Amino acid sequence: MSDIIQLLPDHVANQIAAGEVVQRPASVIKELLENSIDANATRIQVVIKDAGKTLVQIIDDGIGMSLTDARMSFERHATSKIKLADDLFSLKTKGFRGEALASIAAIAHVELRTKTENDEVGTCLKVEGSQVVSQDACVTPKGTNICVKNLFYNIPARRNFLKSDNVETRHIIDEFQRVAFAHPNISFSLTHNGSELFQLPITNFRQRITNILGGKTNEKLVPVEEDTEIVKISGFVGKPEFAKKSRGEQFFFVNDRFIKSAYLNHAVTASFEGLLKDKSYPSYFLYLEVDPKSIDINIHPTKTEIKFDDEHALYAILKSSIKHSLGQFNVAPILDFERDSGLDTPYDYKNKDADAPQVEVDRNFNPFQTENNFKAQYSGGGNYKREKPAEWESLYSGMHSETDTDIDIRQVEFESEEVTGNLFGAKEEQTEKSTFQVQKKYIVSTLKSGILVIDQHRAHTRVLYEELLKNITVSSAVSQQLLFPLRLQFNSHEVEMLKEIKDSLEQTGFVFSAINNAEVEISGIPTLISESEVEILLEQLLADFEKDVPDNGFSQTDLLAKSLANSMAVRSGTLLNSTEQQHIVNRLFACKEPALSPFNKTVFTTLSVDELDKKFA
Ligand code: ADP
Ligand code: MG
Repeated sequence: MSDIIQLLPDHVANQIAAGEVVQRPASVIKELLENSIDANATRIQVVIKDAGKTLVQIIDDGIGMSLTDARMSFERHATSKIKLADDLFSLKTKGFRGEALASIAAIAHVELRTKTENDEVGTCLKVEGSQVVSQDACVTPKGTNICVKNLFYNIPARRNFLKSDNVETRHIIDEFQRVAFAHPNISFSLTHNGSELFQLPITNFRQRITNILGGKTNEKLVPVEEDTEIVKISGFVGKPEFAKKSRGEQFFFVNDRFIKSAYLNHAVTASFEGLLKDKSYPSYFLYLEVDPKSIDINIHPTKTEIKFDDEHALYAILKSSIKHSLGQFNVAPILDFERDSGLDTPYDYKNKDADAPQVEVDRNFNPFQTENNFKAQYSGGGNYKREKPAEWESLYSGMHSETDTDIDIRQVEFESEEVTGNLFGAKEEQTEKSTFQVQKKYIVSTLKSGILVIDQHRAHTRVLYEELLKNITVSSAVSQQLLFPLRLQFNSHEVEMLKEIKDSLEQTGFVFSAINNAEVEISGIPTLISESEVEILLEQLLADFEKDVPDNGFSQTDLLAKSLANSMAVRSGTLLNSTEQQHIVNRLFACKEPALSPFNKTVFTTLSVDELDKKFA
């Protein structure tokens, strides 16, 4: 049998290699930005069209390339960055594999213009599918200007695999920011389809972070500095009270390169111990400088993990220096999270005896009764105000008549503060009580046949969820016009997400009067929420969307309704007066699916008289 092994032709080998280096337009941006930085650029402009699918262009003012180097740069394993194997251990550049340009040129139409300081004229090269199609002398400024067009034009399967423009743009912004955070001494800009997303002047680390994330970031940063033999640490952590609902703003840079490290992340989280609310994540921007010899340089170009020689020492140093900073900047002592307002004793009452709370149970209460009975039972308890009957009623128009009870759900949420201290005060005017609260978490009511225990947060979430869904899909919600529009700062990543869900959000009653790079202007909000809640609500919403990117309109609507309902619903730990309790119960049993929360958790449980009897047997 004749020999059958052959060497792959270069363009095939390059295409295969490209599959590893270039997953999406964002990978092209990362590789080209790194090349410009390695070329000592001080100004780098990024221009993209259609989320980079049509065009990625990077213009730098770096050292440029000679004609020969320009030709060579597209060869595989062609690099100016290492000459000897030993160089690998003292690597100061980002690239060293000589793979990126060869890979990119295998799967796109590439145009390169480049000129060195000393050359009179520059070189213009066109490469398509690894083939040089033209080479000319050209007039071009010092530096390199590279256009990557029609990515994956010759691999339709890869092209079809790309996500929506919004998703791909988000990846690009991520890569762009990671590089920009690490290099404040270089000016960067990013333009997408003609509109400028970032314009970052040369500055210091602190200002760069603020320029990228916008607005009030500066006030939120606490500096961290440490210089030891093993590592030099500089950078910032976010004050704990500004901790995010998502891990969005967590950045480690090692020798100017963005990396991910679950282990070091743990060190940061540990240094915040006791200072953070549950499920919130501290922001951090930490720059670590270590001896290049002490890290494993052979990391894959697309990977962001890294191996350190002395991870344990690094962990300890990081943790103690952040703790030190938090203490030094007096962040720790002023914190008082999770204060239980129910425990706040009004000053005047300090020396009085507590009255035992009065609990009256309506034996006839049955949540399964029909609407009319409900109304008859609870109409006596109406100590709430109907502020804007016309408006909120229209909010529920189109819903079942059973839900059309005299409830302004806003009262359920916001009057809860007022009942604080009742335990000590003049006895509340006794209204007809058929429910009571246990541990400010459960609402207990009696049934003809036993006891009903309802999780207040889940119940309210179910109620709001069904209302929101209806608003989004069937009728538009009424919105309350704000006297002064709210201006909220978001990072550009978040702004991109907001744009994606803007239409659905407007169906719930939000009115966005302007959305630009870092600022969102809101002139109307749903009647169900108050102005002060808007920011936290949107932040949670974006965090939820980030975790769970919905792939179609239907699941987007569902996620939106779930997230908003979850944020807006009364928390466990909130004291509810009896009217509020009853309203939640009423509305719950008017829902289509009262037994389950939108997150498929049990909303209530019952204990029958039979079961009780057994316990006393
Ligand atoms: P690597 O960065 O690993 O060396 P690349 O394929 O990314 O490999 O680039 C190959 C070579 O092309 C680089 O080593 C560098 O000499 C040259 N080069 C690439 N981009 C630029 C640029 N923007 N300015 C100057 N030289 C560049
Ligand atoms: Mg490179």
